[in-house]
Amino acid sequence: MTANHIILSGMQPTGRLHLGNYEGALKNWVALQNDFEMYCCIVDWHALTAEFEKTADLPEKIHQMAIDYLAAGLNPEKTAIFVQSQVKEHAELHLLLSMIIPIPWLERVPSYKEKSEELGLDSYGFMGYPLLQAADILIYRAGWVPVGKDQLPHIELTREVARRFNTLYGEVFPEPQAKLTTFAAVPGMDGRKMSKSYGNEISLSMTEDETRARLKKMFTDPQKLRKGDPGRPEICPVYDLHKIYSPTHESEIAPPCRTGALGCVDCKMKLADNLNAALRPVRVRRVALEKDPDTVTSALKSGADRARAKAAATMVEVRKAMHLQ
Ligand code: SF4
Repeated sequence: MTANHIILSGMQPTGRLHLGNYEGALKNWVALQNDFEMYCCIVDWHALTAEFEKTADLPEKIHQMAIDYLAAGLNPEKTAIFVQSQVKEHAELHLLLSMIIPIPWLERVPSYKEKSEELGLDSYGFMGYPLLQAADILIYRAGWVPVGKDQLPHIELTREVARRFNTLYGEVFPEPQAKLTTFAAVPGMDGRKMSKSYGNEISLSMTEDETRARLKKMFTDPQKLRKGDPGRPEICPVYDLHKIYSPTHESEIAPPCRTGALGCVDCKMKLADNLNAALRPVRVRRVALEKDPDTVTSALKSGADRARAKAAATMVEVRKAMHLQ
């Protein structure tokens, strides 16, 4: 089966989203929703692989993430926005696929080894994470999955799973393709990749003043100590953000940084102005949605209803193909 116009994308419920999530995924999803049938899943079961001891704040994290999805411009009438655990069919498909997939296929997924060593995870569910992800994708018969390069092995596994199922039971699943997302690197306050786990993020939900205060503390070229010192924009994380938010960075930021005419404080405040201006519409919608939880709940409910209908139809085919009732 060839790739179709259906897209599945998802994020773990980490709560309030930051610029890295926005630039790296969300903005792209908003653009894609006009041309594709989109399913955007908040994958709470996946979160349990690492956070199984801390589930009390999951509902709030899901709610905040849904606010960010909507504020960023995902339209619930175009895109089914839903919580994974509200569509139980994902679990059924995961179980059935787990019967036909050899364990070494999961052991060789690069993130399995890396994360099990880094986070000390050794659960059965953690090992099955990429298979649950395959079920998330296949249950919508998605033709495309928007991902970064690091996720390519997961899509390849999903394709292998689809092939194995189709060979055993007949053609039910299309083989999804990766829709590679290329975006400018989004550094955090300390110059490392922006990530909540590093505590270096700028959230969509921050106010303009909070954003300004965060940017004031951002790392710069360590050799540029004061205005007048020549700087090196190519190694400065502030400049990396200018590349995203300041269209005239090549003429108005880099040259005076290099000569020393531009000081880092002024440079950061220009960035704050541009960044705040770019995020203003999202933040205005966000504030309104925070006061209107019913709209968020109802978007998630209608999204889950649509997703469930699609997933249930796939499961009818799957059970039939496997001679299950
Ligand atoms: S002037 Fe701007 S680009 Fe240059 S080092 Fe300072 S913060 Fe970075």
